[in-house]
Amino acid sequence: MKYEKLGDLLVKSGAITPAQLDEALALQVNSGERLGSILQKHGFITEHQLIDTLMSQLGVEFIDLNSCAIPPEMAQLLPKGTAKKHMVVPVRATRTDVHLAMADPLNFVAVEEVRALTRRQVIPMIATASAVERAVQNLYSNQGAMLAIEEMQRDLLGSQYGGGAVVQPQSVAVDEEEAGAAPAIRLVNSIIDRACTEDASDIHMEPGEDSMTIRMRIDGALRTIIPVPRELQSSVISRLKIMARLDISQKQLPQDGRANVTVRQETLDLRISTLPTIHGEKVVIRLLRKAPELVTMEGIGLEGENLERFCSLVDHSAEGIILMVGPTGSGKTSTLYTIINRLNREEVNLVSLEDPVEYHIGGVCQVQINDKTGLTFANVLRSVLRQDPDIIAVGEIRDGETAEIAMRAAMTGHLVLSTIHTNNAVSSIDRLLDIGVEPYLIAGAVKGIISQRLLRKVCPYCRKPYTPSQEELAALGMAPGDYTFYKGEGCSECFGTGYRGRTGVFEILPMTSAIRHAVHSRSVKELEAAVSGADFRPLIENCRRLVLEGVTSGEEVQRVLGGI
Ligand SMILES: [Zn+2]
Repeated sequence: MKYEKLGDLLVKSGAITPAQLDEALALQVNSGERLGSILQKHGFITEHQLIDTLMSQLGVEFIDLNSCAIPPEMAQLLPKGTAKKHMVVPVRATRTDVHLAMADPLNFVAVEEVRALTRRQVIPMIATASAVERAVQNLYSNQGAMLAIEEMQRDLLGSQYGGGAVVQPQSVAVDEEEAGAAPAIRLVNSIIDRACTEDASDIHMEPGEDSMTIRMRIDGALRTIIPVPRELQSSVISRLKIMARLDISQKQLPQDGRANVTVRQETLDLRISTLPTIHGEKVVIRLLRKAPELVTMEGIGLEGENLERFCSLVDHSAEGIILMVGPTGSGKTSTLYTIINRLNREEVNLVSLEDPVEYHIGGVCQVQINDKTGLTFANVLRSVLRQDPDIIAVGEIRDGETAEIAMRAAMTGHLVLSTIHTNNAVSSIDRLLDIGVEPYLIAGAVKGIISQRLLRKVCPYCRKPYTPSQEELAALGMAPGDYTFYKGEGCSECFGTGYRGRTGVFEILPMTSAIRHAVHSRSVKELEAAVSGADFRPLIENCRRLVLEGVTSGEEVQRVLGGI
């Protein structure tokens, strides 16, 4: 490839005029910015046109970094500083050459530097600047983990072949642990650190036939982060078990524990659980972080009419029970915390029974439930009732005994807040009847039921409007018509998924006399009819509104709500 000046090349190909080039060059003298970005900033050329011109004029290939996996060892080939300085990232390499994704393939200083550092021939490829930036960030964020893995492998080789082969059978387990200790700690720390950077909610460590895969749940979906060689599996698992004070030698039974770690001044509560699988123990770590922005009404996605309904239900109930329902991961605990925050005042005694305690709230008496020590929801609830409570939050109603005590408390001058793991209002009432709660208690105590789900939000960086097909409209229960939907095309900001962040979507059902009557009759059909006759906006209607506003996509609503 012959090096030409970018400006001359663009003029020659007719992409920009000589006058535009002069103007951009004059600006460059003052700002020192790259010519390509100045031309884009001033609207002389789009990134697409720039890439097209460079591809055809230089014969360099375009590489879509969002859809190609860069091998982690590329991080060792080129220092992060060089990659960042020149906006380049190595994507693959042989012994003689390296393919280099570049935001500006005409940057011959970068090519020369990479050639000297890698001692390989550089084959430039073109990529968008934002994709290179994201790829550099991703590649090098795994570097800490990669280095720790290498170090562990070296130590393991050393302990197998190095020194005199003195066997100490009585302390094998300890030796094994000590041999890989320091790098194992580093590896575990770098994995947790990465989880924080990505705002992951869980880390999964899954042993397979050849290696242990580390995946993280980011915005509700699992993403593969890094493989850990099989021979290092046991030191990593041992390290986690030590952190959570679990029995290292017990590998045949599931265990669970908790640990506290500090990552960049933030204290994290980790819930660590193990499960024996055919390839070894699988470990799942749930990260519980303080996220104050999530526990406000706006933060969880309450707005407009729903916000008004929510406030009137929460503020005007001095006694009774408010239920939050939804499947796992639907955000009902965040809603419970939001209500606790709102009702937390000096003049009330607010007691919260939680499993686990996820956030600390000043002024609220929070109790950690622990079935092992007898601190069950039912037992604690009984004790709390002897302590003059005004408002009681019960983390979850799982059994008939807890449900019954909660309902009785709700009918004797207390406001009770709780969650039930069911799909909607009707099924939650059905569940309560099922676990043996008397219909008169349900009819008398329940003030309102908030059903909810979490929906992924369309990525604002790659959001594009489109006209939905009749099938898509039908799937959302919409009549044929002219509508505009939105979806993300996938970009470096959203891992190519088209989604970034999540929002809650709600259905707030007030208790009506028709519903009360239906509860007494114990008929699901009558209950369904009573619910649909109540004055409220169903979940699906709120979902459709979010789709039309471009907050989420039709596909996402179908994925979360299933067949509607
Ligand atoms: Zn995007």
